[in-house]
Amino acid sequence: MTPDLSPLKKRLATYTDLKLASSILYWDQATMMPAIGAEQRGRQLATLANLSHELLVDRETSNLIDSAFSWAANQSFENQDAAFVREARRIHSLESKVPASLSAAMAEHFSRMYAAWTDARPKSDFATLQPLLEESVRLSLKMAECFSDLEHPMDALIQFSDPGTSVRTARQMFQNLRSQLVPLVKKVTSAKQLKNDCLTGNFDDASQLKFCRLVAERLGYDFRRGRIDLSPHPFMTRLSGNDIRITTRARRDDLTDCLFSVIHEVGHALYEMGISENLDGNILGNGVSSGVHESQSRLWENRVGRGKPFWDYFYPVLQQEFPNFKNTSQSDFLKAINKVEPGLIRVDADELTYNLHVMIRFDLECDVLEGKLKIKDLPEAWNARYNSDLGVEVPSLKDGCLQDVHWFSGPFGGSFQGYTIGNMLSAQLYDSALKEMPTMESEFSRGEFFNLRSWLTRKVHRWGAMLPPGEVIKHATGSDLSVDAYMNYLTRKYSELYSL
Ligand code: ZN
Repeated sequence: MTPDLSPLKKRLATYTDLKLASSILYWDQATMMPAIGAEQRGRQLATLANLSHELLVDRETSNLIDSAFSWAANQSFENQDAAFVREARRIHSLESKVPASLSAAMAEHFSRMYAAWTDARPKSDFATLQPLLEESVRLSLKMAECFSDLEHPMDALIQFSDPGTSVRTARQMFQNLRSQLVPLVKKVTSAKQLKNDCLTGNFDDASQLKFCRLVAERLGYDFRRGRIDLSPHPFMTRLSGNDIRITTRARRDDLTDCLFSVIHEVGHALYEMGISENLDGNILGNGVSSGVHESQSRLWENRVGRGKPFWDYFYPVLQQEFPNFKNTSQSDFLKAINKVEPGLIRVDADELTYNLHVMIRFDLECDVLEGKLKIKDLPEAWNARYNSDLGVEVPSLKDGCLQDVHWFSGPFGGSFQGYTIGNMLSAQLYDSALKEMPTMESEFSRGEFFNLRSWLTRKVHRWGAMLPPGEVIKHATGSDLSVDAYMNYLTRKYSELYSL
């Protein structure tokens, strides 16, 4: 018989509300807040972190979870109440191992560090950030100590973002991918190069945002339930089922930064918007992992947004908005947005070299947490890896180890593997969708994306965090996560583009 879950649901609804209240404070800090408010904001975030932590780990919550768990363990994955109890137990066991004082210290530290990073990054000022990063590593290792049963200190951080993944499995995945990817990158970079000059020029910010809003709306982003604002590092945040916001940034000299950031964040937002309504306000009412989330953003950004069918519809619209493209053919534009060029910035990277950026970060994080690399030597180690792996010199730290928000707004380690999992999964999902809907791409050419979106909602979105990531992947694609679909796609695409 189903136990009475209402007392537990009530407690965890409050827990979810506190988490969502923190999210709006983060959103505000990244978009609107005067920088000088960082100190006090850090304190407020720490207070909320403390309250939600205490509520989750207190004895009453523990007892309620324990008394329902033996029932839940015997139910199917699709049973929502059982999934709720399983998820409650999972997050409870994670958080109860971390002392409240440590969670609060982390929330406060990350908020202060984020503010310092926004100021220091443009100046390539590593000296200011070094002690803050050292403190982050100290806090991250302290957190890892709370999970003494795990093999690697970073496993403790990964389990929060990608449950079911570990340093060991991620290393295997990276090795497998790398062995196939590096030869392909070599072939492409030694072939005749494509031109992308048409993408640089003078692109009015307001026109960029106007075009991006149009794209977002066509792809299915529901502006009644969301909004787009500007921030130094684009992101998506869920504040409730009916308030799912994205941010972007616009560079006057470069059309692609804003556009592909928006498509990427729309991918994340469509996931959150597609989560079953009855999971709203529940611990299950959010994306299940960073890897599955990135599969959505990368699918829309790359498989859809850099593909010919998408531009069959949007290129004439773009030409109308930007006279810069009057004399550029659609096929030259497509080559330009798919040009492979080993570079400095991860978020600007082409699909082929993107994962090499991820691997560099992952390896450096492991080295730091294993004590093999000191933070003071991080810039040098970063620059050396960019030189050996991508063949580029790093001219300034702002485009080097200070470029990503991750190390300056959260624990040191445990988040980058999600991007590569996402890339691989996006290929598996897209192939599965295309197999079921062979006319899908001709719909894109007409500006229709509904069928792909609703396929993804059926297979991935609606579940929220009800199914563990591995089950979502199996349910949607019929198989486990694998590198094959992704490598087949990359090989096919770039062989054609570069006439290999
Ligand atoms: Zn993303």
